Amino acid sequence: MFKFIKNQFTNMRIKTLAYIASFAIFCILISVTFSAIYLTDKANNLEAAWEKFDKKAVTRINLLKEIQSKMGYGGMVHNFKNYILRKDPKLLINFYKSTREIDILIAQYKNLGIRPVEEESLSIIKKTKDKYKTMAILAEKLVKQNKSPLEIDPLVKVDDTEALTQITHLKNFIKNEHLQKSKAVEKLIHKQKHYIFYVSFFKSLTILCSLAIMFYLSYKRVTKPLLSINKAMKKIKNDNLNVEIPYINQKDEIGELAMSVQVFLSRTRELKIKESEIEIYVAQLQKKQKQLEQEIKNAQTADNANKMKSEFLATMSHEIRTPMNGIIGTAELMLANKLKPQQEEEVKVILNSAESLLEIINGILDFSKIEAGHVSLEDKKFNLTNLIDEVSQVVAPVIYHKNIEFITDIEPDVNQNLVGDPLRIKQVLTNLLGNAVKFTEKGFITVHIKKDSSTVPLEGFEALIFEVKDTGIGINSGTQNLIFEKFTQGDSSTTRTHGGTGLGLSISKELIKLMRGNIGLHSTQGKGSTFWFKLVLQEDRTDKQPKEEIKPFSKHKNIKAIILDSQQNHRDFLKKKLYELNIESTDTNIIQDAYSLLNANPNKFEFIFINIQNSHKNIRKKINYIKSIAPKVKVIILANPTTPSDMNDLYSNHNIDALIQKPVHLKNISNGLYKALNDEKENRKSYYKTELNENHGVHKGKKALLVEDNEINLTIGKNMLKMFGLEVDTAENGLEAIEAIKSENTKYDIIFMDCQMPVMDGYTAASQIKEIKQKENIEVAPIIALTANAMKGDYHKCINSGMDDYIPKPVHIDALNLLLDKWLSENPHPTQPIKQKKSNKEETESEEPVKALKEAHALLKTEFQALLDKFFHESEKHLENIIEGYTKHNAKLIEESAHKLKSSSLQVGAKLLSSVAEEIELNVKSHSDQQALFNEIETKLPYLKQSLKRSHESLKLFADNQANHVNSKETLN
Ligand code: ADP
Repeated sequence: MFKFIKNQFTNMRIKTLAYIASFAIFCILISVTFSAIYLTDKANNLEAAWEKFDKKAVTRINLLKEIQSKMGYGGMVHNFKNYILRKDPKLLINFYKSTREIDILIAQYKNLGIRPVEEESLSIIKKTKDKYKTMAILAEKLVKQNKSPLEIDPLVKVDDTEALTQITHLKNFIKNEHLQKSKAVEKLIHKQKHYIFYVSFFKSLTILCSLAIMFYLSYKRVTKPLLSINKAMKKIKNDNLNVEIPYINQKDEIGELAMSVQVFLSRTRELKIKESEIEIYVAQLQKKQKQLEQEIKNAQTADNANKMKSEFLATMSHEIRTPMNGIIGTAELMLANKLKPQQEEEVKVILNSAESLLEIINGILDFSKIEAGHVSLEDKKFNLTNLIDEVSQVVAPVIYHKNIEFITDIEPDVNQNLVGDPLRIKQVLTNLLGNAVKFTEKGFITVHIKKDSSTVPLEGFEALIFEVKDTGIGINSGTQNLIFEKFTQGDSSTTRTHGGTGLGLSISKELIKLMRGNIGLHSTQGKGSTFWFKLVLQEDRTDKQPKEEIKPFSKHKNIKAIILDSQQNHRDFLKKKLYELNIESTDTNIIQDAYSLLNANPNKFEFIFINIQNSHKNIRKKINYIKSIAPKVKVIILANPTTPSDMNDLYSNHNIDALIQKPVHLKNISNGLYKALNDEKENRKSYYKTELNENHGVHKGKKALLVEDNEINLTIGKNMLKMFGLEVDTAENGLEAIEAIKSENTKYDIIFMDCQMPVMDGYTAASQIKEIKQKENIEVAPIIALTANAMKGDYHKCINSGMDDYIPKPVHIDALNLLLDKWLSENPHPTQPIKQKKSNKEETESEEPVKALKEAHALLKTEFQALLDKFFHESEKHLENIIEGYTKHNAKLIEESAHKLKSSSLQVGAKLLSSVAEEIELNVKSHSDQQALFNEIETKLPYLKQSLKRSHESLKLFADNQANHVNSKETLN
């Protein structure tokens, strides 16, 4: 225990207390133990002694009683007297027997321990017995002498009174002694009771004293100091910090406690100081908060003002745009007339200034909308290659027109099917590409999409970097930081040369920010720029996407190719893409090198890729020479998309095995290879199989009704049908169509019906026509739906409304040919819808709109320019109507105009414009909340304008090329 105390308590005060307490407890324990042992022992001894004494006394009494009876009338004396009386010797024998028994009893008595008083009494008894014995001898003699009892009796008479008295005396003595002894024991017990009382008393006293001492000590040494420390604590609690902590110097637990309180006191004092400092800060903060609140109020007012500014700008820009269009239109009209040279110059200045002003107004409006937070993002599934295709459709003609090479490169490990806002991504890409082409005069422009290795996206997401690289004028490092600011442009000289508003990049930056991405650039002045943006997009993991059909060659085939291309970058890119298809390539920019390679080993190479850019000089000769030295090699030409007629001419030359329209990408290379390996040259007529000549007038004598509200589509459709020899009537809506059908003297062989039209749509018209047919028993021609949404559901909707077949827009000659064959032949077979036939298996989606444009050109010839002008005018009108619908909150007007724009732009191959218009049309269809819809339209308007502008540029270039080509056809060879 002491060891325990020693270890447990390190401090003397508590230790001493603990020692005293434990010593007291120890003493009490010892005394209690000893007294218990002593008392128990004593009681045991007393009990044993008393028992022994008691037993002896009883034995003595019993022995005395027996002696008495042996002596008395049944015993010795009795037998003696009877012997004298009867003289029976047996009685004498009994007499002697009794005397012996008395001897034995006396001996037994003595064995119990004999005291002098008893000794004396016993010897008297013994003497009396001996006297009888002596008298017995005498009595025997006298009996033998035949003396009479009466004679004998006086002679042998023994006085036994004394003996009997002694026995009684002894008995009394023993009884007295017993009584005395029991009294003594009683006394002793009484004494012991006292003793126990005193011991208990002493014990209680000891415990009380120990407790008192302990209490005193603990009070003095623990409680009292604790109380005074507590008192000090209370003072501290009551903010009285001028307090002395007692026992602080004591070297024990109390001292330690006091020290802790002292530390607490010092901390509290520090805190008090801090508290007062904080109070000062709080006061300052409150002051600041008030200031901030005031500033927020001001900002809110400013925000409201900003919103009002946006609304003002939206209205104003519309108001300004209308007269501006008037100015531009008038200026264009004036230019069309014959003017004096000076007047012409002045009108051109007016036109340029008006166009720049309009561009600035549009830019300001777009930016203010994004800035005001009116832009929300969409989550739509899209395919990256298709997205890039749509963008490059618009920019490619402008790029190639400047004789710049254009590369669109998506790394093979990038997931093509994604979810995001494709429209915004296209908007940014179009803007960056627009800038690239604006500031580049030679070299190349690349769109490169790769994984962003610096970001680890979540499972199911793709971190991508989009790069737009050019070899243009570049931007000096001082300006690089500024160009993302609104209205900031590079140096003024470039601005003067290239125009622009300085808003494009700031709009792009805001859009990328909205998509939680980053945008930036690297640029070296004089060498070029790379604008990049990073986005994290969700992967589209649904199974519905079309399967990628690109299949590389087997590695074992060891296929080799030569690349003949003047642009190093384009060569490298092509090499990379061929490698992805397991084709090993050797590249050169010198045609002689290619000849030498083929000469040295004519069978080594399977393909030769020749990038002819805009120069077709001697190309036929070159190809012929190649074929003469290596007849088996497949010649694949990479051509700019702005030279379609040249392409047809080239392609009809049997020495070309495949033609790939640039920009080149994996899909069109793969298609080109497939074509080169499988094409039946004899069956080829032209690259763009317009089949104009073959089909000319094949349905002569038949009559068609074309119901279409869109003027562009109507013009093209009418001409196409006429080309097949059909006589064509037209109607602008369903109602007009019904009237035409009902008219007495007209009987149509086929009816083409647009679905969405004003007054009466195609579905209603078709079902009413069928009703009329049944009621009035009129024979009605098959009704073919014209639909711009080539989706599965459309076919069923058309058939359910009573139409017989459908043909998707843009209408192509080959598809129309099949359809007319199906319905106008002797035995029509109306079981399956005509799928748009691909005249060449290799035609990619991106070529298709160009094809539509080329068909229109081939059909309309001299009227083509007029059709384009009409399209430009109409599309501007549609845009105006959409803007008007937006400002006047007229959703129906927006939907109708967007639908028309979508439809006509598709027919002239303006795919990007068509896709933006379609988005807007779908927005109106799907939005139930009007405000949300107009906010959405508001954000799409800028891009609609941008796409419209760029589509117009591309179409103008196309038309120019066509015109130039006609003039310069002779130079081709
Ligand atoms: P702008 O309508 O003037 O082109 P932007 O915001 O798109 O407005 O561009 C701002 C400026 O950044 C341009 O005026 C030009 O000086 C510079 N810039 C943008 N892209 C390029 C590029 N690819 N090469 C050189 N300079 C560029």
